[in-house]
Amino acid sequence: MSSGRVTLVGAGPGDPELLTLKAVRAIRAATVLLVDDLVGDGVLRFARRSARIVHVGKRGGCASTPQAFIEKLMAAEAMKGERVVRLKGGDPFVFGRGGEEAEHLRAQGIDVEVVNGITAGLAAATSLGVPLTHRDHAHGVMLVTGHARGDNAALHWPTLAAAAAQGLTLVVYMGVTTVRELQHGLLGALPGGTPVAVVQHASLPTQRQATGTLGGLAELVHAHGLASPAIIVVGDVLRGLHHAAAQAQPMKHERSA
Ligand code: SAH
Repeated sequence: MSSGRVTLVGAGPGDPELLTLKAVRAIRAATVLLVDDLVGDGVLRFARRSARIVHVGKRGGCASTPQAFIEKLMAAEAMKGERVVRLKGGDPFVFGRGGEEAEHLRAQGIDVEVVNGITAGLAAATSLGVPLTHRDHAHGVMLVTGHARGDNAALHWPTLAAAAAQGLTLVVYMGVTTVRELQHGLLGALPGGTPVAVVQHASLPTQRQATGTLGGLAELVHAHGLASPAIIVVGDVLRGLHHAAAQAQPMKHERSA
């Protein structure tokens, strides 16, 4: 009973130059595009003029389009034979419900193809010139969300901090609104002097960032007026920041003292 196909496409962190060739090909071929808020406008310039573009994020109205509606619309359009592309910020399978959407579509017999994108956490670190797994400082990386789902217990930050203290860089998505809680919890097992960085709008011309230490993280966010969408990086890999950043592309730096 398979009919129709939807391609979940990672639009990357915002800079259209960071799209994959596969993503560009899928966007060009699409007749219907469902687009999240975090997808940069520059990415949409690859769409056909005749394509129907549906903004399903908060920009179009006061609240984001309910997930059920998005999934229904994708399925209906795909079954009509439209070439449906679901454009999601970063990578479709790193947070952002790509997994749920794929399951829902497959359950209806719709083929789902997924095209990777560069996830915001990677783009944020690279924009600072920081390798997340520099082997002098880290054995790995944890990508976590600071936003607990209603029916799920929030992350136990001290436990994550203990893992981070073993040499795992912590990359937090959706963490700025709960930054105080996060800071407090992480201080349970990490020293206040642990380096942190906050990057808003990574890869976009509007990118802003600040660096400091865990003990002053919430204050840093507040003092620099940093807000969502932003990534928080915590870990010793940031110790190389000043040296590395000097070699990175020109940046609009905002650093804490
Ligand atoms: N699938 C996306 C993540 C979706 S969750 C990805 O792989 O990147 C949404 C969160 O992603 C935001 O709250 C923010 O933490 C992060 N984010 C997305 N785009 C960003 C950007 N350009 N700069 C900084 N953070 C970003």
